[in-house]
Amino acid sequence: MASSSFLIKPGSKVSLKDHKTQETGKFKDKAEAKAALKAGVERLAKYQDILYAANTHSVLIVFQAMDAAGKDSTIEHVMSGVNPQGCQVFSFKSPSAEERDHTYLWRNMKALPERGRIGIFNRSYYEEVLVVRVHPEFLAGQQIPEELKTDKGIWKQRFEEINNFEQYLSNNGTTVIKFFLNVSKAEQKRRFLDRINRPEKNWKFSASDLKERALWDDYQKAYEDMLSNTSTKAAPWYVIPADDKKFMRWQVAEIVGDRLKALKLKYPEVSEEHKQRLQEAKIALEAEED
Ligand code: ATP
Ligand code: MG
Repeated sequence: MASSSFLIKPGSKVSLKDHKTQETGKFKDKAEAKAALKAGVERLAKYQDILYAANTHSVLIVFQAMDAAGKDSTIEHVMSGVNPQGCQVFSFKSPSAEERDHTYLWRNMKALPERGRIGIFNRSYYEEVLVVRVHPEFLAGQQIPEELKTDKGIWKQRFEEINNFEQYLSNNGTTVIKFFLNVSKAEQKRRFLDRINRPEKNWKFSASDLKERALWDDYQKAYEDMLSNTSTKAAPWYVIPADDKKFMRWQVAEIVGDRLKALKLKYPEVSEEHKQRLQEAKIALEAEED
């Protein structure tokens, strides 16, 4: 597990007021931050190529955040340099009828990255302990056994199920990296107003965004409990200050790059026999008349 000042130590109790939302880091201006992100993206592309060639491991990156924290644009920027063949993004919205007819990890399981690939979850199974917790009517509407709905221990149980699931992924070669993009309430207001004021951004704003904003404190509590209970050695959480988008994107690229580096993967070794075949092919190609 690569160290980072934004890593949530397994077992620690998280209070979000102790975590910064604003951070610009070591950069003196925007241009410097942009250049650092570019270098981070290039490094990521290099490691991703090896991940793809080795075809033994995969990486699952989970993004969770309040609305307008910048999940979409972070995914866009951080993954901008990687080969699209080695990367896949899934967004999890309110579950469909078919999805509700299964246990909650089902739709996530189907979307897990194959070996050699980086899979990104834009929201995830963690919504089951966030939006579903903040809205009791969502839990009431789930097709789960009645006794589960009234069990006060349901959130602890879900944390445990999720930890076990992520441990299983880790045991089997999937590196799980989880980001909570920590935006402030004031910055969210600014970004919502921007979405309302700029016609080309209008589509990004929906009336329900304001309803969720009104539940800000409930969400913060749900996030704190989630972070306190599901940051593990196998699948740690990183809480990234999100008010400065350039800093946030650079941090995410750095952490993913560090975690990929720590895998110490190598391009597959070619056997002596294969090398022999390569030489034969080379001679044959060079002997061809143009
Ligand atoms: P974002 O706001 O992340 O950019 P979006 O606005 O494009 O995404 P929405 O239409 O807001 O997407 O859909 C995401 C919504 O689906 C969120 O409000 C989220 O809480 C909800 N959601 C996701 N998973 C679940 C779940 N398991 N149960 C209930 N609601 C869920
Ligand atoms: Mg939304």
